Amino acid sequence: MLTVPVYFDPAVLQHDTGLYHPDTANRLEVVVEALRQDGRRIEAPPAPERTLKAVERVHDKAYVQRFSALCRNAPADYVGPFALFDCADNVISAGTFEASLRAVSLTLAATDAVVAGRAGSVFVAARPPGHHALASRAMGFCFLNSIAIAAKDLIEHHGVARVLVADFDVHHGNGVQDVFWDDGRVAYLSVHRYPFYPGTGAADEEGAGRGRGTTVNVPQPADAGDAAYAGGFAAALERLAERFRPEVVLVSAGFDAHEADPVGGMRVSTEGFSWMSRALEDVADKFAGGRIVSLLEGGYHPEATAAAAVEHVRILARGNEMV
Ligand SMILES: [Zn+2]
Repeated sequence: MLTVPVYFDPAVLQHDTGLYHPDTANRLEVVVEALRQDGRRIEAPPAPERTLKAVERVHDKAYVQRFSALCRNAPADYVGPFALFDCADNVISAGTFEASLRAVSLTLAATDAVVAGRAGSVFVAARPPGHHALASRAMGFCFLNSIAIAAKDLIEHHGVARVLVADFDVHHGNGVQDVFWDDGRVAYLSVHRYPFYPGTGAADEEGAGRGRGTTVNVPQPADAGDAAYAGGFAAALERLAERFRPEVVLVSAGFDAHEADPVGGMRVSTEGFSWMSRALEDVADKFAGGRIVSLLEGGYHPEATAAAAVEHVRILARGNEMV
């Protein structure tokens, strides 16, 4: 019987975004506390030694060095824009680089655990999120693309043949799509509000070259509810998994499509997230030996995010923890 731990380290709270930013440390504290109350084991495994090397398989070295130096040189109480020519959404503080790197290392430790069979699945409760980050550009609250780094690491370090990244965050994960656009080894499926930030994710964006057909977008209009959003995700997931046959499933678990979320403008209920979680669990059981690493992305109503995350992890645990 394999358990489904939650990976979390207080270092990820050190990314300080000030008073008027949706990605607060508090939102994550509320999520972790709810998971703890629900009986989940909270663990902080050590960072794999190869973490920086894995980061640099996705991000340009110069970008990583510049990001690291900006944070290292920032005054202890600094909170401000990343740089004048970057997205104004990307506020940094002295702890932002270390928090971002820890979010990556927790995700890599999670993939290590499921590949080695030490855990059935893992939920990574970290921030800042990652799915918008490009090879050399921070975007949309994201700096290092944890899920893309983990997917590439599964292929190149662990020798996994096919990885599926499934993303139910209300925003399209343009960074993940971009990294694997012409790479047929990593499939990317996203359901999201469209048109909406960051502007990508139309239904006809489907990859190129050897990656043609392994990018699947399921755009949804504003105010979409469970039937369209969760139902659309589940149906597309099943179709893609049947032809792609993933060996590991990674999840960009953003809860900002929740009806209570102040950012998303959608009407997905907590039960809608459970529906998507069950679809993920079914696909992982059928093709991937149940192996899921799910990573928190967005979700800006702390209590709604926590409630949906608790249900999500319960469903991930159901298959693994049944006696
Ligand atoms: Zn989002």
